Amino acid sequence: MTLADRSGPGGGSGGGSGGGPSAGRGPGHPILEASDLVREYPSGDVTIRALRGIDLTASPGQLLAVRGRSGSGKTTLLNILGGLDRPTSGRVLIDGVEISAMSEDQLVDIRRRSVAFIFQSFGLVPILSAAENVEIPLRLVRAEARGRDARVRELLELVGLGGRARHRPHELSGGEQQRVAIARALANRPRILLADEPTGQLDSETGHLIMLLLRDVVRTEGVTAIVATHDPVMLDVADRIVELRDGELFEHSSLA
Ligand code: ADP
Ligand code: MG
Repeated sequence: MTLADRSGPGGGSGGGSGGGPSAGRGPGHPILEASDLVREYPSGDVTIRALRGIDLTASPGQLLAVRGRSGSGKTTLLNILGGLDRPTSGRVLIDGVEISAMSEDQLVDIRRRSVAFIFQSFGLVPILSAAENVEIPLRLVRAEARGRDARVRELLELVGLGGRARHRPHELSGGEQQRVAIARALANRPRILLADEPTGQLDSETGHLIMLLLRDVVRTEGVTAIVATHDPVMLDVADRIVELRDGELFEHSSLA
């Protein structure tokens, strides 16, 4: 399992942003490869074809924006790329390993270590502080306590919440809650960050700041991010934009 062979939390790989994270199979290889993804939902007599043969690759350190109107298949695609859902047919490879063929247990491990999600609704645990929320993924992989504390502090600083560590979610603004969720998603140094309309519940100004933060953390952490969004700031700062239309993917001209 090459996916787990990464420096652990607190390992301070630092400066890894230059050429992107080491991708196991050497530079130039895509970190994510999806081929001919189809997802059908049976619905009474008819079948809804939410994805109609999607091919998509992402390179290490890339920030990819996925746009598309409501119902075009963005959530379905992200869920399949992250192993939350399985395609009806087609394959997903992360760092050369096919996750679409994995058992549930293996997928749980992938979601703990290699792939992280950010949702529109933040998804923080209300009774835990910001720091404790960020610490959850580190506890799930049984990271040792000292490394955990250091990594939590580092992440809260990274998202600009160094002074809010003890606040609970209800004591934070929506934008601050999403910052905590971003910090939590990065805790175990995932290879891939999947964000499903992460600014959908925020006012536009706060949303823009979150998009710029995502741009920054992709650079500093060397993660590959795929962000479903309509936010014009993300469409400005993304390395690449694709658009889903009715379950089919179209390339926009590269802005990089
Ligand atoms: P988006 O995130 O772009 O709004 P979705 O991926 O949520 O799009 O949905 C794509 C299509 O699949 C829509 O037609 C939606 O109604 C359908 N769909 C999504 N989830 C389900 C489901 N669990 N059961 C049936 N149909 C679904
Ligand atoms: Mg959606």
